[in-house]
Amino acid sequence: MLSLPQLIGFSEQNGQWFAENVSLSSIAQEFGTPCYVYSKKALTHAFDAYDKACFRKDGTRRARVHYAMKANSNLAILNIFSKLGTGFDLVSGGELARVLAAGGKASDCVFSGVGKSHSEIATALKAGVKCFNVESIPELTRINEIASSLQLKAPISLRVNPDVDAKTHPYISTGLKDNKFGITFEDVIHTYQVAHQMSNIQIVGIDCHIGSQILEISPFLDALDRVLSLIQELKTVGIAIQHLDIGGGLGIDYGGDTPPDITKFANTLLDHIEKSGFTDLEVIFEPGRSLVGNAGVLLTLVEYLKPGETKNFCIVDAAMNDLMRPAMYEAFHAIVPINSSSTDSSVYDVVGPVCETGDWLGRDRKLSVVSGDVLAILSAGAYGFSMSSNYNTRPRAAEVMVDDMVVHVIRERETLENLYQGERII
Ligand SMILES: *Cc1c(COP(=O)(O)O)cnc(C)c1O
Repeated sequence: MLSLPQLIGFSEQNGQWFAENVSLSSIAQEFGTPCYVYSKKALTHAFDAYDKACFRKDGTRRARVHYAMKANSNLAILNIFSKLGTGFDLVSGGELARVLAAGGKASDCVFSGVGKSHSEIATALKAGVKCFNVESIPELTRINEIASSLQLKAPISLRVNPDVDAKTHPYISTGLKDNKFGITFEDVIHTYQVAHQMSNIQIVGIDCHIGSQILEISPFLDALDRVLSLIQELKTVGIAIQHLDIGGGLGIDYGGDTPPDITKFANTLLDHIEKSGFTDLEVIFEPGRSLVGNAGVLLTLVEYLKPGETKNFCIVDAAMNDLMRPAMYEAFHAIVPINSSSTDSSVYDVVGPVCETGDWLGRDRKLSVVSGDVLAILSAGAYGFSMSSNYNTRPRAAEVMVDDMVVHVIRERETLENLYQGERII
């Protein structure tokens, strides 16, 4: 059996797939498909796994989690994390608005991203975000000007590009020299000195983020060593760093991956920082995927089985617009029938109805299914709904969350009218 999340899984006892204690079949029946299903307990468990490592033996806090909300920005999820005490990592003004709408505080947000607009910066400054993670001198200049016009001081970190290989998919690797992200390692000290001279900039931290779905600890340690050496060097030129943001990027098990245990990963990094002599740095983790990825599945109905000469297709009612990761990164998601009566199995490509050859969800999967069955696409909690679109004029899926025995709709299925309500015929 797949070593997938215990809170969303298969119960040998009653032969059913479930989320917490609710069968996925009953959810598909009640809420329709395609439908994202999340487990609140699974979210909480992943957060606790990080949080356990965030305290020293004497009980004092040494690190804090800022949830990278682009992984899944549903208000219910933000609200749960906010109540658990996370901060947030934002990449747009829209995400700041979501945090505020979900009951979170701007002062718990760090604002990342390579292309912050004038209005995003002004709004975030006025709201009082904890820190801007800055990626270039032009951005620094813009932030300084806006802060000056508002008579405010902008708290900033520089995002360092440590030039380490995260050994992950090229599209989700962000810490190499030729990526668009961060400030080139060799330019960092100079850029801090420039920032130090700016009247309305206040240097508070240093930041890096090397990529996503990283399954080893060593790239993180390499990046950490490079950033720690910069903190040391900054001290000698009179620039003090209060917080170290080590980004996100820890991978999850999509079915056969072996990421390090979250608590062990976090402890290893934090212990490494302390052993290197940096005992009073406030450390920030920015996990996205590892908090939500295995807390969600996407339910989809088998519409047709279409046998072919070289390939069989299992055509389902979810598509690349609902779950983009396979089309975009050739990502693997385990796919399981949750209610099949069929015992004959065949090998299928699981594909959606969208008019693109790239519209596939799984390739060469051995499945026992018939038309009308429901499949669960596993590990779909991160970069699933948040990357979804309306391509082919497809309403986006419903989202529900199981909390103990109660299933809450946390986003209604879009209606067709929703899709063209802003359009005008001339
Ligand atoms: C996307 C992103 C994260 C989260 O990455 P995960 O791989 O989901 O943990 C963290 N920080 C920044 C700046 C990001 O862009």
